[in-house]
Amino acid sequence: MIFGATGDLAKRKLFPSLYRLYEKNRLHKFAVIGVARRSLTNEEFQQNVRDSVVSSLGIKNDLDEFVSHFYYQSHDVTDSASYVALKNSADQIDVRYELEGNRIFYLAMAPEFFGTIALHLKSDGLTDVTGYKRLVIEKPFGHDLASAIELNNQIRTAFSEDEIYRIDHYLGKEMVRNIEVIRFANAIFEPLWNNRYISNIQITSSETLGVEERGRYYETSGALRDMVQNHMLQMVALLAMEPPIRLTTDEIRSEKVRVFRALRMIEGEQVKDYFVRGQYGEGTIDGNPVPKYRDEPMVNQNSNTETFVAGKFKIDNFRWAGVPFYIRTGKRMAAKTTKIVVQFKDIPMNLYYQTEKVLNPNLLVIHIQPEEGITLHLNAKKAGGHLDAQEVKLSFANTGTNAMNTPEGYEKLLFDCMRGDATNFTHWDEVAYSWAFVDKISAYWEQTKEDNFPNYQAGSMGPKAADELVEKDGFFWWPVNNMDVDVCK
Ligand code: NAD
Repeated sequence: MIFGATGDLAKRKLFPSLYRLYEKNRLHKFAVIGVARRSLTNEEFQQNVRDSVVSSLGIKNDLDEFVSHFYYQSHDVTDSASYVALKNSADQIDVRYELEGNRIFYLAMAPEFFGTIALHLKSDGLTDVTGYKRLVIEKPFGHDLASAIELNNQIRTAFSEDEIYRIDHYLGKEMVRNIEVIRFANAIFEPLWNNRYISNIQITSSETLGVEERGRYYETSGALRDMVQNHMLQMVALLAMEPPIRLTTDEIRSEKVRVFRALRMIEGEQVKDYFVRGQYGEGTIDGNPVPKYRDEPMVNQNSNTETFVAGKFKIDNFRWAGVPFYIRTGKRMAAKTTKIVVQFKDIPMNLYYQTEKVLNPNLLVIHIQPEEGITLHLNAKKAGGHLDAQEVKLSFANTGTNAMNTPEGYEKLLFDCMRGDATNFTHWDEVAYSWAFVDKISAYWEQTKEDNFPNYQAGSMGPKAADELVEKDGFFWWPVNNMDVDVCK
């Protein structure tokens, strides 16, 4: 059951992802009940599904058989009668498609409804099934620790922790899933993956888009809550965790949680030394002028909401003591990219230049999106002449797809959920630790208004202070653009 079946997420991601699974023969006995406020017939809903698959995937196949599995139920989330009607249809469909009482509830709706729906699912009998029941829940999971706890308590009355699948769509991305394999399947990396050999790690997730139509939501969120609490911290955890004993959901999640437990809490005045916030002003993107954030629809003219965050994380354990993990993320930046740069320490002495020129450090770049791949930056002898060293790059390119939040990510996550594999979903402990961390930053920011907003030009890589954050430690942000050259071309 998809709650919010007439919404943007269902249309752009969920229906195309379901079709891909169907096409790959991964859906055998299945039916989907779309639930939303509007009144629609089954046929109209099926036509919506057909249109969404055609426009997202550009296919011309006959979709009649696929869409015949889709049903629609108009619904009021606060009204028990709606749930009783839904239960009746679901019970009939269960028999018709031999679903063995297995049920997945996907909440693709505004988060304020999550708790209400979960409570009704239980009180109105929809969770009384003979098979499995699972709840898939979209972000944001609360807007701070207190609201996340409240929401969690509500959904836990109807579902146990192992039945809850909290989506972080970054965990559906091919190269995010690959971090673990690159680390734990290569003898040349794991021995070096610590503070003796790594000088710093940088994660950039930048967008060229502005806030678009999401001004109302974004004003209450900002980049810290929208990106750092979930996606950025999840990538940090995957990069920093210890090798799990086994590749089971519990083992992997407990190693990630241990990273969060070792994360140094930053609070009060310290925040200034570790985090930088920004808000975009006017500028140009692809040669076109774009307005400042404060002029976007549904945004306050004096808004103090950050559209950019740069930060430094310290992980206080044996492996990582002394190694900064830098992150930056923002809207209206110069490039649309998500990349991880692992910078190795300099070798003790440079034999290969007579002048002051320094050797490039070795870098391992993990390209998350839009390119998917890895590049290893090494030094090698320049062809001919002297023993001059020059940088060479070894690249591996996944045959990646080019869209942010690609349906493929959702396709993997949906399939995982159907198989009952929760590894790439966020456990409550991870949510709680990351909110506890982020709440301290937002508390400081809320009491100290930024008086120089907007402080970066649209189409730039963020405010100057973000560069200074890294420079004061003796580093600089590796440029994200010219790192792509060898990948996926
Ligand atoms: P949307 O506004 O496009 O759709 C909302 C859906 O909820 C519609 O189907 C609407 O009919 C239904 N709805 C609203 N009020 C209702 C009510 N009272 N009773 C019954 N149905 C009601 O939202 P969306 O963009 O699809 O986002 C849904 C969720 O997914 C949100 O939590 C959002 O944060 C999350 N999300 C969306 C995207 C995306 O790409 N759109 C990406 C990541 C996360």
